[in-house]
Amino acid sequence: MARYRDAVCKLCRREGIKLFLKGDRCFSTKCAIEKRNYIPGVHGQRRTKLSDYCIQLREKQKMRRIYGVLETQFRKYFRLAERQRGITGDNLIRILEQRLDSIVHRLGFAASRAQARMLISHGHFLVGGRKVDIPSYMVRPGEAIEVRPRSREMIAIKAALEGTKKRTLPSWLELDATNMKGTVRSTPTREEIAIPVEDQLIVALYSK
Ligand code: SF4
Repeated sequence: MARYRDAVCKLCRREGIKLFLKGDRCFSTKCAIEKRNYIPGVHGQRRTKLSDYCIQLREKQKMRRIYGVLETQFRKYFRLAERQRGITGDNLIRILEQRLDSIVHRLGFAASRAQARMLISHGHFLVGGRKVDIPSYMVRPGEAIEVRPRSREMIAIKAALEGTKKRTLPSWLELDATNMKGTVRSTPTREEIAIPVEDQLIVALYSK
């Protein structure tokens, strides 16, 4: 599985906002955005006027980076969103939210989507009672996601659950923290997904 291997804090600095890619560190004073909120590199502090294309491109990169999806797969999701009924931007975000790695992170079983991907591919989760080790698996409404019984004592999962007590669970998810089990109550709407991305800019970029 291809993935980004460089320092992820650079991605936040490139986009100029916190993308919350590192779990607890993102909420601490160690966050790179708190310390060096400028683009990495020699010319990072130079101010330039962005073209419309550049603004759209940055918005697309921001969304791709939040969900940790590479370009080819992101384009596939976009084409899928275009074919679905409704607003393409809303469909795209909904598709990304319904990925198993995103839901595992939202439920609080992992501190970040990257950690969720790692835990899923190591086989620590059951979906509908069956082991699923594909992070891009699309979870359907009504399906239950649970930590495998033998993985319930894992420090990483317990620490993530403890850390996410401070966060609000999205209304379209349900969590039984004692039994380490979550359920997708419904398909999320755009209003229920708190992501600081202007999806219509991405639609404009890909529609050229
Ligand atoms: Fe981004 Fe988190 Fe790194 Fe801060 S600590 S720059 S929010 S990944």
